[in-house]
Amino acid sequence: MIKEKIKKIKHRINEAAKSCGRNPESVHLVAASKTVSADGVKSAITAGLHIFGENYIQEAIDKIQSIADDSVSWHFIGHLQSNKAKYAVRYFDLIHSVDSIKLAKEINKQAKKINKNQKILVQVNISMESTKSGVTVENAISLIREISRLENLSVKGLMTMPPYFNSPEKVRPYFKGLVQLKDKIISQNIPNVEMNELSMGMTGDFEAAVCEGSTLVRIGTAIFGERA
Ligand SMILES: *Cc1c(COP(=O)(O)O)cnc(C)c1O
Repeated sequence: MIKEKIKKIKHRINEAAKSCGRNPESVHLVAASKTVSADGVKSAITAGLHIFGENYIQEAIDKIQSIADDSVSWHFIGHLQSNKAKYAVRYFDLIHSVDSIKLAKEINKQAKKINKNQKILVQVNISMESTKSGVTVENAISLIREISRLENLSVKGLMTMPPYFNSPEKVRPYFKGLVQLKDKIISQNIPNVEMNELSMGMTGDFEAAVCEGSTLVRIGTAIFGERA
């Protein structure tokens, strides 16, 4: 039962937060719903979830239109191509995956057209894996400075996808790395840039992420089961 699974995960998030001296209310659960049907998402809404993270624009639009529930907040967590930015600004409250000035400018342009202030996170490739999206730690601050000048974008924080390990403890240094970068950015006092959100932690490692300071955990498998 999805209801039981969600209850269990919320409990684990709360316990992880408390055990590290964090307020559990500062951590939000983003249900990673790629490949999950609209009915699957509806069950999760009924079970009390209200933030969903999608990876693919077309799949997401179909679902968002079919669910048509204003109480739901949709986040875009996948790799975003510039030519899809137009749809991303129309349908998503927060885009987690901005990692280039080209993409940021396109999102800004499309947001301007519909008179929206688009909230974004900057995705950081903290592990420097060549297969991963995200700006390098080295280039993150200059990218954020450039983005800060774009009028219709608001930077709210950072996101990362660490490498996969079978032990969450191995992922912890990457979470710490994102927190260090966040603190460095805060110390630069860049106008129009907030660092209140850290999007990190998935099914296999969310407790470590919560402990290190995550405010948005993106959890799919533990809620919806294994993806096909
Ligand atoms: C699929 C996905 C998740 C969720 O992963 P699980 O291991 O199923 O919890 C989180 N973040 C992103 C960007 C994803 O694509």
